[in-house]
Formats: sequence, C-alpha cells, structure tokens
Amino acid sequence: MSRMPGAVWRPVVNFHPSGVREHRGAVLHVQDGNNSPYGWFNNHASQSSSDFWVSKTGVIEQYVNTGVDYAWAQAAGNPYYASIETEGHPDEPLTAAQIEGVAKIYSWGHTEFSWPLIVVDSTTKHGLTYHGVGGSAWGGHPGCPGDLRKPQRAAIIARATELATPASNRHVSVAHLVAAMKADSAGAQGHVTYKTEGLILEDALYREDLLTRYWVDGSLGSKARDAYKAWQRSKAGGAYTGDDADGYPGIKSLTRLAARHNFIAIP
Ligand SMILES: [Zn+2]
Repeated sequence: MSRMPGAVWRPVVNFHPSGVREHRGAVLHVQDGNNSPYGWFNNHASQSSSDFWVSKTGVIEQYVNTGVDYAWAQAAGNPYYASIETEGHPDEPLTAAQIEGVAKIYSWGHTEFSWPLIVVDSTTKHGLTYHGVGGSAWGGHPGCPGDLRKPQRAAIIARATELATPASNRHVSVAHLVAAMKADSAGAQGHVTYKTEGLILEDALYREDLLTRYWVDGSLGSKARDAYKAWQRSKAGGAYTGDDADGYPGIKSLTRLAARHNFIAIP
C-alpha cells in the first residue's frame, strides 16, 4: 500500500490491481474541469481514474495504491508512470498552490520510488513527463496538460528538489563560489569547480529571473558572475554599488539569497 501522507485517501473502483511494472516517474495532466473528479473516477462507466488530483487551492486527493495498482489515465503509459490530474482548464496556468501540491507528490515519489528530480518529454525516460507526449498510444490527448502547464514542470521539479533536500543539507560556501568563479571563467566553456554549490547558486539566480535556464549548469562563468552582480545591485540583494557589487559573492548578499532559496550560506 503506497499512500501519500498529506493526501486525502479516496479509493475508487477504476484501477488495475498489481498492474504497475516500473516506477519511472509521473505524468502531468489537466482535468479540463473543476471540482474533485472522485465521483467520475468511482463510476465504472467512466473507465477513467488517476493516482492523484490537485485542486487549485492545493488539496491533494489520492485514488489508487500508487506504485502497485495503476490508474486509468494514460493508456499504454499506465503501468510505468503514476498520473497527476490538476484542476482547471488548459488555458489556465497551474496556481502556486497547485505547483506546491504537485511538488509534494513528486517529492514523495522521489523518496518512495526513486523518481528522478528531472523534467522529461518522453514515454520511456524516468522523470516528470506529460500526457500529450504519448500520442495515440497514451490515449491521444495532445493538448494535455497544454502549453501553459507543460513548462511549469520546471518549477514543480525545482520545488520538489527543495522539499526532498532540506536546507540544512544545502550549504554553499562564499570561498568556494569565489574560487569557482575565478577558475571557471579562466577555464574552457563549461569548466566546473564546485558543481553542487554552483548549481544551487545558479538555480537561485534563475528563480530570481537574473539568469536564463540555459546557463544553469554548475559552471560559474561570466554569465553567473553577471547575474550575481545584478543580485548584489538589487534591493533584495542589498542594493550594493561599486566594488561591493563586483559579482563575487560576499557573506551578506549570499545570506540574503539563501534565505529566499532554501540553502545555507557559509564563509
Ligand atoms: Zn491527461
């Protein structure tokens, strides 16, 4: 029995007992409707169900024993991926509370089934994928969950990563960052010195809208330094000017960033 703590357990009649073959990850769906689909999923005539549903306010309902029995959400994909329905329509983005709810589910799956904390656009790779990518073999729903919700999987995975990795395990050292910025900018494109800390820093700068996703690679070259410079100059970063905003992290500006992005700044 794999029931997620924090989810409302509402078992339904539509499921395939012991049908799960692999724990590859989860598939994001859009309900294209509002209110709990429980009644529909608990009706034999509908021939449909999902593992989870997340309301716009962040309520999580679970309908089948995830990881053991499979729900009827994505045809040929059912034995390999769990399914997450999200309230609303394809022309509405996920709410912040929905992103949080889906992230909680995914983080739980990461711990329970080793779902990797990555976005994939695939019917075979392990990670967080989406319904439409499966084409007719997955029931032919190309517009699920739609162009607004599909890219929100990046935010879901970023948050699931935070949930799976407490701040107390994420230490980022000023000395390491400064050394890495110097070594990586002097080295070849993509040179990496302190990858884990570099990724935490770049991910935070990305979420502050100061760095494009393309440059979140653990290599602290000139793009990362420019982004950090922008952080130092910003009000949230301390509104530093001149030499105090040279792009090399100091403990004060890094502590401000850490407080907003779930890591701990150390000298
Ligand atoms: Zn779907």
